Amino acid sequence: MTAPEVKGYCPGALRPMQSGDGIVVRIRPFNGRLRRAQADGIATLAAAHGNGMLDLSSRGNLQIRGVTEKSYPALIEGLRHMGLLDPDPEIESRRNLLVTPFWQTGGETETLAPALTEALSQPGGPALPGKFGFAVDTGREAVLQTASADIRLERDAGGGLILVADGSGKGKLVTTETAIAEAMALAEWFMDTRTSETRMAALLASGASLPADHFVPRQQQSYVPTPGYTPLGAMVGLAFGQLPVKTLASLAKQGGLRMTPWRMLLVESARDLPDVKGLITDSGNPLLRVVACTGAPDCAQGLAKTRPIARKLAPHLGPDQMLHISGCAKGCAHPRAAPLTVTATTDGFDLIRNGRASDPPAQTGLSSDDIIKAL
Ligand code: SF4
Repeated sequence: MTAPEVKGYCPGALRPMQSGDGIVVRIRPFNGRLRRAQADGIATLAAAHGNGMLDLSSRGNLQIRGVTEKSYPALIEGLRHMGLLDPDPEIESRRNLLVTPFWQTGGETETLAPALTEALSQPGGPALPGKFGFAVDTGREAVLQTASADIRLERDAGGGLILVADGSGKGKLVTTETAIAEAMALAEWFMDTRTSETRMAALLASGASLPADHFVPRQQQSYVPTPGYTPLGAMVGLAFGQLPVKTLASLAKQGGLRMTPWRMLLVESARDLPDVKGLITDSGNPLLRVVACTGAPDCAQGLAKTRPIARKLAPHLGPDQMLHISGCAKGCAHPRAAPLTVTATTDGFDLIRNGRASDPPAQTGLSSDDIIKAL
């Protein structure tokens, strides 16, 4: 199998990434939200300077695809004009922050997320590894526990705030006033304690002991994201996280957009969803249970097209089956284990059960028809 190329950094808008279909410009919406004018403006910019397609990433970021070296400067200028960029690439890289989409106006999350953004944006902040991230998961219940983050703010059984190191079952009691300084101190602890580890869970798994004041039990998440109406607006699914500019412009007419790591957007205050091609509004749609990366030819490392095969396999999934299809062993779209993973190789597809895209396969050299029989 050909080894996938490891880039060693998390791309952004100021440090974009070259892909098979051009430059990918990743926008990190501040506090996980786009105002209507920003969402509409991004759609206009992506139509003018990209290839008309955007992706919602597994960290709740928005990627404009198909940008060229010639169109990049004007795109960046447009994004800067709308207040969507950081001052420099280092701060952009460090501001790796997921925010619960279920925050309420006037609630603690609305205070904590900008305060953490501000702390991470200070010059001279900790030089955290590229994938290291934070989650402000301080809605009524935790919803981001399965999403990638290393330092989390959550609630304990009594509704108080706790600071959690990812990989630990316990957290430290904090307050609205102390939470951000404590989060930054935990990031410093990680940097001081680690050897080669780049993620908090790996550091704890290596035997590192958290400070003794991390003793408050975490609440286990029961939330399962599904499309539908919520008190805050409408949650809509996007097959494979893909978002044509027309869809983004259409959603922007409905309300502000809250990002999620689930290939879904929460459209604020929307009560009557537009009938837009590609939006998933039915919680039973099997495409919600399929994760597929960009694949070939738009990703230069892809060894096969992923999304056509995903559409072919989806109707054959059982109601509880979840499938990850990866264009190579890198597994970008779902870096963790999945019940079923199909990885493209130079010799057909590998099928991996309860593993990651790079794990040893149960079957190799499969065609799409072979996979349907094996599901
Ligand atoms: S996993 Fe998919 S998106 Fe990531 S490098 Fe491989 S083909 Fe490209």
